Amino acid sequence: MRLETCIRKGLRLKAHRVREVREEADQLVAEIEWIEGRPLRCGGCGCPTRRIHERRAARQWRDLRIREQTLVLRYAPLRVRCAGCGRRVERVPWAAAWQRITRALGRAIAELARHLSWKQTATHYAVDWKTVVAAVRSAVAQGLRDRKWKPLHDLGIDEVSRSKGQRYLTLVYDLERGRLVWIGEGRDDQTMQQFFQWLSRRHARSIQVVCCDMWRSYISAIREHLPQAQLVFDRFHVVQHLNRAVDEVRRQTWRQLPRPEKQAFKQTRWLWLKNPWNLQAKEQRRLSALCRKNQPIVRAYYLKEAFQRFWDYKYPGWARPYLTQWLRWASHSRLKPFTRFARMIMDHVDGILAWTQLRVSNAALEGMNNKVKVVSHRAYGFRKVDTYITAIWHSCTDLPLQ
Ligand SMILES: [Zn+2]
Repeated sequence: MRLETCIRKGLRLKAHRVREVREEADQLVAEIEWIEGRPLRCGGCGCPTRRIHERRAARQWRDLRIREQTLVLRYAPLRVRCAGCGRRVERVPWAAAWQRITRALGRAIAELARHLSWKQTATHYAVDWKTVVAAVRSAVAQGLRDRKWKPLHDLGIDEVSRSKGQRYLTLVYDLERGRLVWIGEGRDDQTMQQFFQWLSRRHARSIQVVCCDMWRSYISAIREHLPQAQLVFDRFHVVQHLNRAVDEVRRQTWRQLPRPEKQAFKQTRWLWLKNPWNLQAKEQRRLSALCRKNQPIVRAYYLKEAFQRFWDYKYPGWARPYLTQWLRWASHSRLKPFTRFARMIMDHVDGILAWTQLRVSNAALEGMNNKVKVVSHRAYGFRKVDTYITAIWHSCTDLPLQ
């Protein structure tokens, strides 16, 4: 088969043909021409039309390499007249509008960008960063369109901070299938409003359980839009708040200690937060020595350990009185961080107790969240939030590639 025919078949040309393939300065150039009389497509709506106006200047598109040689398509598009759109430049079948690479090359770039960083991908295909961004963006858009909708039952809502500072993304997961469903900028009321607008009332109906942090915007949006769903506060987030309380007490204790005792207290942050069964013998000895000395931190430590036992309860009939008792203890502990934590738990007690029966948490998403963090560490060029979101869709999910 001649190279011309091979390229024509590869591009599935119907109204065009490859006139000739030439070697020009280290690259192969395929000259493409219109087969007179064949209908062309309107660049606006894609409708076929036979009314040709004029020829535009020749343009070039990069295509997949052939035997290590760069292949370039060269063609002078025609202006056509469309019944609906008026005068438009034709839609060429090998590339999307305004693109300087062919669809086939775009797909190959997107495929590689799933595994390599975008910068490495750009180097590999000798294209610039923007071309990679455009290729991935169009692959993601297509993937999201082609994705099959599966009814949602258990929803997990989580936030990731993006770059440094207080900027967040909200990620919504299908907990049942461990699948990312939606990504939005921020984590406020507006973000949640956008999510429910996207979800639509029809799709919201099947949701029975939502797992998230005790975050006001999430809670109020869920109550408003999913009145049928049971809210479960994510265990990991609750423990995070608990650990923060312990740490605050540790720091207060530290500040009040006389100088010689400060020395023994140094670098004990993880000692107080670690699960006791994970402590090594040396750490255990150090902990009990410290316990003999410092009253408030000891109270905090036991409070933390006692709270952690709550997660083991399986019957609400037992879990509720246990939690109530713990809350009373914490409220009277004379430890400000703990009275604050206890009040937070009291305000959200239904969603805390829901754990006992539903046993739902966002823990299964940890692997997913790690992937998202890896993407954010490749921070180069992700200063724009929508590029970052595109990167998460592309690298952390299994969106179908064309
Ligand atoms: Zn048209």
